[in-house]
Amino acid sequence: MNDMNEYKVRLTEEKEGLETQLATVGRRNPGNPNDWEALPPETGQESDPNDAADLIEGYEGNTAILKDLEIRYNHVLAALARIEAGTYGVCEVSGEAIEPARLNADPAARTCKAHL
Ligand SMILES: [Zn+2]
Repeated sequence: MNDMNEYKVRLTEEKEGLETQLATVGRRNPGNPNDWEALPPETGQESDPNDAADLIEGYEGNTAILKDLEIRYNHVLAALARIEAGTYGVCEVSGEAIEPARLNADPAARTCKAHL
């Protein structure tokens, strides 16, 4: 149980940081708060065909960034849920305790070093 609170603080801070980053490239799905949708980048200009191409490129960029952020965000949420459930720090494959060094490197780790 040592450092559980520290992991919780770190995970909560990371969650908030990810929410800030997610909000720059997307918005929450109103029907599902854990789901995020990519937003087209803002230009503040009238569109011409070249801008439209840039917009699509920007949108695809946002979609890719959002996807990565969302995966990490869901890992962090799952780790916080495991803290609440009392199952934090247990390898999902072997059921063994995850090494403290691994949890220090990644508090959202789901497996021990042997099951990376
Ligand atoms: Zn394991």
